[in-house]
Amino acid sequence: MAKANQRDFYEVLGVAKTATVDEIKSSYRKAALKWHPDRNPENKHEAEAKFRECTEAYSVLSDPEKRQIYDTYGHAGLSQAGGMGGVDFSGTIFQDFHDIFGDFFGFEDVIGGGRRGRTRQQRGADLRYDMTLTFEEAASGVSTKIKLPKQELCGPCHGTGAKTGTGATACQNCGGRGQLAYQQGFFTITRTCPACQGSGQIIKERCPDCRGQGRIHREKTIDLRVPAGVDSGTRLRVPGEGEAGANGGPNGDLYVVLDVKEHTFFERRGADLYCTIPVSIVQATLGAEISVPGLTGEERLKIPEGTQSGAVFRIKGHGLPDPRGGGKGDLYYHVRVLTPSKLTREQRKLMEQLGATLSVENKPAERGSSFFDKVKDIFG
Ligand SMILES: [Zn+2]
Ligand SMILES: [Zn+2]
Repeated sequence: MAKANQRDFYEVLGVAKTATVDEIKSSYRKAALKWHPDRNPENKHEAEAKFRECTEAYSVLSDPEKRQIYDTYGHAGLSQAGGMGGVDFSGTIFQDFHDIFGDFFGFEDVIGGGRRGRTRQQRGADLRYDMTLTFEEAASGVSTKIKLPKQELCGPCHGTGAKTGTGATACQNCGGRGQLAYQQGFFTITRTCPACQGSGQIIKERCPDCRGQGRIHREKTIDLRVPAGVDSGTRLRVPGEGEAGANGGPNGDLYVVLDVKEHTFFERRGADLYCTIPVSIVQATLGAEISVPGLTGEERLKIPEGTQSGAVFRIKGHGLPDPRGGGKGDLYYHVRVLTPSKLTREQRKLMEQLGATLSVENKPAERGSSFFDKVKDIFG
C-alpha cells in the first residue's frame, strides 16, 4: 500500500535518479547498518521505521523491473502492480539484506530466512561427569582415567548417516535448506526443519553402523589430571571431550565435577585445615613437645608451659595447596585440656595436695577474645 506521504525512494537512499545498482547497494548497506533495530536499542521504534523505509526503497530500486515501474508511475504504480513492491516484506528483502552482509551482525536466527544449501554447524553438547575423591587424593592431586559414555561421529559414514555408496536426496519439506522460514510481523523467523533435522537431506539407505544417526555411542577413556588442593564443587574443564558437533561443528567440553570426602579429623576451610588435639592437664601445665598427625606425616607441636584449654597453634604453610598455584594454607591445632575423670586413690591425694597450694579466682572471664586472638604461630 502506498502511503500518502511516502518519501521518494531515491531520497530515502540518498542517491541520484541515475544511480547504478552498485551505488544503490552501497548506499543501502550504509543506511541498513546505521538503522538496524538491533544496533539502536535506545530508539528501536525510530530505527525500525527508518530501516524498513530504506529496505523497502532498496527492494524496489535494486530490482530493474520494479524500478522501472516506480520511475514511470511512482508509489502508486507499485501498489497497482499487485504487491510487487511497496510495503511487501517478503523473505526476499531480508534475503537480499543477508546476501550483502552475510553473518556480519550474527543474528542469522532472527532475520534472513536462512541461506540456501547451507546446513547449520552445531556445537556438541557439554558433558558433566561426577567424580568422588578421598581427602588424601584431593590434597595431593591425582592422575586418573575416567570412562565416559559419549556420542562420537560415526566413522564409516563420516557422520552423514547414509550407507556407504548410497547418496542422499534433498529434503522435500524444506527444499534442501534445512530450515523453514516463518513470517512474524517485521521479522522472518527461521526454524530447523523437523523432517531432516536441519541437514537439508533425506537419506535413502541408512548406515548400518549408526542406523542413520551419524553418531555412535561409545565408551571413551580419558586421562584426567586432578591438581592438588581441589575441593568439593571444583569443576575441571576438559576442552573438546564433550559430545561431537553436528555438521562439522566443534565438540562440546567435558566438565568433571568433584566431590571430596571428609577427613576423619581434619576440618577444611578453603586451603586451611583444623583439628582438635587433646593434652593432659600435666602437659598443659608444665609444657610438652608432642607429635601430632599432619597432612603428609607427623608434625612436632610444642605446648608451652601454662597452655590454656582452647589455645590454638598454627603451623604456617602446612595446609592444603591452592589448586590454582597460589601457595599453601595453614594447619591449625586446637588444644583441649583433658580433665581426668577417674582417679586412683593416690592420684586423688596428689590432686588434693596440689589444690591446697593453688588458688583460682572463680570470676567470669571477659568477653571478646576471638578465636584468632588465641592463635599462636609455630615455626618449624
Ligand atoms: Zn528438511
Ligand atoms: Zn554411520
